[in-house]
Amino acid sequence: MSFLKKTKIVATLGPSTRDIHTLEEMILAGTNVFRINFSHVTYSVANMQIKMIRELDQKHECHSAILADLQGPKLRIGDIEPNSVVSVGDSVTFYSDKPFVGNVKKAYLNYPHLAKDVAIGDSILINDGKLIFKVIQTDKKSKIITKTVQGGDFESKKGVNLPNTRMTIGALTSKDIEDAKFIFTQDVDWIALSFVRGAEDLLALKKLMSDFSEKTFPIISKIEKPQAIDNLDKIIELSNGIMVARGDLGVEIPAAQVPLVQKKLVLLSKKARIPVIIATQMLENMIDSLTPSRAEVNDVANSVFDGADAVMTSGETSVGKHPAKVISMMTSILKTVENADLIKIHLEQPKNIQTTRYITDSICFHAAKIANAINAKAICTLTNSGYTAYQISACRPSAYVLVFTSNKSLLSQLNLLWGVKTFYYEEGTKTDLIVEEVNQIALEKGYVEKGDFLVNLTYIPISEKGMVNTMRITTI
Ligand code: PEP
Repeated sequence: MSFLKKTKIVATLGPSTRDIHTLEEMILAGTNVFRINFSHVTYSVANMQIKMIRELDQKHECHSAILADLQGPKLRIGDIEPNSVVSVGDSVTFYSDKPFVGNVKKAYLNYPHLAKDVAIGDSILINDGKLIFKVIQTDKKSKIITKTVQGGDFESKKGVNLPNTRMTIGALTSKDIEDAKFIFTQDVDWIALSFVRGAEDLLALKKLMSDFSEKTFPIISKIEKPQAIDNLDKIIELSNGIMVARGDLGVEIPAAQVPLVQKKLVLLSKKARIPVIIATQMLENMIDSLTPSRAEVNDVANSVFDGADAVMTSGETSVGKHPAKVISMMTSILKTVENADLIKIHLEQPKNIQTTRYITDSICFHAAKIANAINAKAICTLTNSGYTAYQISACRPSAYVLVFTSNKSLLSQLNLLWGVKTFYYEEGTKTDLIVEEVNQIALEKGYVEKGDFLVNLTYIPISEKGMVNTMRITTI
């Protein structure tokens, strides 16, 4: 049963997932979160996909999370004449004022501040770093002259990275602002911000949200710039989740550094009790083939060992030939490794007695410890804000984290978190009855059996719908 796995799968939507049957197969195979990549989607397609997912949620009584991913300042070159190839030593001039069809001597690049921001000696990487150019001269307006350091096919519309350049553009472009205003009107759960570099990028999105949205969406910061790695503490403090966006990250920093950055990002996210997604090229071979490479299987498994909440597909599901089979393969890898004793996330017990959440934080931390000690099969918690779900999930108990809430927007949102299953539940006023009722739901849904231990978290007095302050151990 794919729903019993704890590590979550984020599947990117695209041309291969447009029909409802494919989406249904993907849900049944174990998808928990669908990512809509606003680099490539029209509003009508996005809206259609959201409606299909919600229809399937109703049909299968599940709560898929939907993640809207803003493009951010993704740079691209313009069109290039077919069969253009540049060689080491060739001089190529880039212009940023207006688009034109380029060739081996000149090309358009869609970043208006290009000539102003670059310095002599900076690198320009094209097509995931396959082509490398060094800046020789800039007129500081719209023209830069470069020398080819690494040559190859020079193709239209390929992505550009400027790893050494301090870009003056913010993480929210005018396209992102329009896209975000559309997203605010849609039934989505999370917003991802691309190419985050520091606190100001997140504050800009939060301001846009408070100005234009009725609802507050939790934000995932995509870590894919070297500047973000320099500002991680502040970024994590302002984010509700982190994505290790290894595609652009592996171009912006040497690819050999990505595994260490991945480990560091997971540790910091777990310390902050926020979810972390490992993304890109996880089962890349499955874009065309039904068989992943051994290294890819290892990569998915090792991401679980690192402590990822979720692993993500990109091209494998968005443009691949077998989107549902990719999800089945991921599910099978996750289920094989995720309960291994080898996986230990070492979190410290909450120490800061000054924080308003100290009692809840302590109870959640110790609930996870006790659940492991008595081999409890589930930790059942009530929540109004989702806070306890983040706290317990980060501790990686071996028990399921069953979250009961009357806040409907949390049902799908929390589906990104490791081990968390959500249930709609309107609590009454008697704590004893609540414990009985939630345990009965856990039994009916197949998470526990007769005789199993459970750990129940509630708040007393119940009528105040306050913060979790009470733990009980019960048996079915
Ligand atoms: C990445 O670069 O790894 C990533 C997830 O971003 P995108 O797919 O939006 O380019």
